[in-house]
Amino acid sequence: MQAGIIALLLACTSLNLVAADKKTQLAKVPADSLQAINPNELRMHLEFLASDQLGGRYTLSPNFAVAAQYLATRLKSYGFKGAGENGSYMQNFEVITVKPDAPKSSLTATIAGQSADYAYGDFTNSGTRAGTFEGGVAFVGYGISAPRLNHDDYSGVDVKGKWVIIVRGAPKDVDPSKLKDEESGQEAAKAHGAIGLITVPTSTNFANNMKTDAFKQRVLQQESVRLAFNNDKKLPGVTLGPAIAEKLLAQMDLTFDTIAAKLKNGEPLASKALNASVKATIALNVATVRTQNVVATLDGTDPQLKDEYVTFSAHYDHLKTGVNGDIYHGADDDGSGTTSVLTIAHALAMHPPRRPVFIIFHAGEELGLLGSQYNTDDSPVIPLDKILVDLNIDMIGRSKAAGDTSEANKQLTDKDTIYLIGADKISAELNTISESTNAEFEKMKLDYLLNDPNHPDRIYFRSDHWNYAKHGVPIIFYFDGIHVDYHKPTDTVDKIDFDKMARVDRLVFETGWRIANLDHRLKKDAATATAVAAGANSR
Ligand SMILES: [Zn+2]
Repeated sequence: MQAGIIALLLACTSLNLVAADKKTQLAKVPADSLQAINPNELRMHLEFLASDQLGGRYTLSPNFAVAAQYLATRLKSYGFKGAGENGSYMQNFEVITVKPDAPKSSLTATIAGQSADYAYGDFTNSGTRAGTFEGGVAFVGYGISAPRLNHDDYSGVDVKGKWVIIVRGAPKDVDPSKLKDEESGQEAAKAHGAIGLITVPTSTNFANNMKTDAFKQRVLQQESVRLAFNNDKKLPGVTLGPAIAEKLLAQMDLTFDTIAAKLKNGEPLASKALNASVKATIALNVATVRTQNVVATLDGTDPQLKDEYVTFSAHYDHLKTGVNGDIYHGADDDGSGTTSVLTIAHALAMHPPRRPVFIIFHAGEELGLLGSQYNTDDSPVIPLDKILVDLNIDMIGRSKAAGDTSEANKQLTDKDTIYLIGADKISAELNTISESTNAEFEKMKLDYLLNDPNHPDRIYFRSDHWNYAKHGVPIIFYFDGIHVDYHKPTDTVDKIDFDKMARVDRLVFETGWRIANLDHRLKKDAATATAVAAGANSR
């Protein structure tokens, strides 16, 4: 028997343990699994997934199913089982595409007794509900109703039967990552009896842009995509152009500039019932499209722990091919994450850990985190209380070259650095394991700049991990930073740093491996656990 084999046996049988803290023993990581996470393997997958031949991975494009089949076939070959219906590797779900029927849409606004009619373009649809909706108008600031966080924009104003104007963001004394669904947006407005949501421009720039013919042309073509499930329960939504909006804002002594400044500083915004009413007729062309998340599981070796899953996720979709035929390859976004999770799955299958592994490739992330929302809010493949952690990878394949001082790459990390987001938000133990594992193995620079939910880029909410975190599942989001090719056809394979990618992937593997072999269930922070339990029950 060869030495190599003896080392392998050691790794498998005894699961040598090292101490993370006084109490917790962390599993040693199998060397051959780490070797399987290498630039060559990563490049093999990515050169297919980001190829011209595949033609991009837009969720609603016919090629998208080709990418899904590629992922499913690979997972099957590694020994993963399909986690969808009847053992399928596909979690099918429906989305609706919504396009305005502008000629049939109209809006009448009566402000301080003055009535005026507006055509589509002076207002736009921002929801998914068609019909005629009429009512008074109230301004409710950030639209947050969370008395438990000492903030309620709905106290002191009656919005029953009214439209509510809500502006995006949160006051600086509220951590938006702690908000439950029913404490903001649609859900809070509905809970207080509002009949619809109104959005207004919150900067002069945006207001001026809405005045242009180019904008009016663009909104006529605008296609929004939403999950099909419980769409009829949604409130209708309109965005008002500057001509209407500035009159409404004036009733609160606000202008586009003053509201922009207040939002930037997270200043409080007083709520007020306005001397106004709006009647909107919204006509929409709606179509239903079927799509799929790719889902698979790997059994763990310890039957006692079969209900404790460690999840690895990425989104395998990207943007629609341009009208001029430009393909959006999405090599970094999120070809890098999809390739990484596939390669990590392969490494895990070589030595299954004690706990089972759940792999999910989300569809519709670019369309609004749709695939993960479907899996968490509607039909979880694995019940969320059986998921110990979600390690989500979205864009880890780029590194800033030394001496690159370009504005476009300002946020991009260098070859030895990666952003970690969310590791300390729901489980302090997760953060400890992540840090100690990195210190022991990859020794990368872990940057927490974007870990703040109030960071202006709101990165904490901008990838699929958020739909798990909002239900109280501990998460880590691995991210390299916005760069010059973000959401451009130029996000191509030739710019990918496969050495960095392999190093980050080994860190993700090591972290997940250790949680999957922990001698206890990953601990959640008490506060979060109770709040979330309360939230989950009320959903
Ligand atoms: Zn992405």
